[in-house]
Amino acid sequence: MKDEYYMTLALKEALKSYKKNEVPVGAIVVLHDKVIGKGHNLKETKHDVSSHAELIAIKTASKKTHDWRLNEAILYITMSPCPMCASAITQSRIKKIVVGAINPDSITKESTDIIFALNTSKPLVKIKEKVKETECLELLQDFFKKQRKKAKKN
Ligand SMILES: [Zn+2]
Repeated sequence: MKDEYYMTLALKEALKSYKKNEVPVGAIVVLHDKVIGKGHNLKETKHDVSSHAELIAIKTASKKTHDWRLNEAILYITMSPCPMCASAITQSRIKKIVVGAINPDSITKESTDIIFALNTSKPLVKIKEKVKETECLELLQDFFKKQRKKAKKN
């Protein structure tokens, strides 16, 4: 139940990206049942490849706790991470990630699985997938449908 609740908050973040014409991905960092970090994808707005939802959420969480180590924290993401974010997740020592939709790009998914499996900072990050999967996926599909329509017009 708790995981569904926090995923709803991550979805709210994703919706902010959607409204800015960004790929709708949202992330929330939770520590001892408190939200300490939030982020939504801002790659286009900021012209910045590192402005992924997860990285922004991790950065705000670290700022709040004055610590880059987030050992006890849980990260909620509406879509499974890319390899860059997977690396940051292992670096930050987050103990668990809860994922909504699985990245449809199987190579990306396999790469991140390898990053998590080879994580040298023990213990390995726990991964729970497909929490509120339908909502997370629908938002993404809706976005790409809209993009395709736009592309047709031009
Ligand atoms: Zn990423």
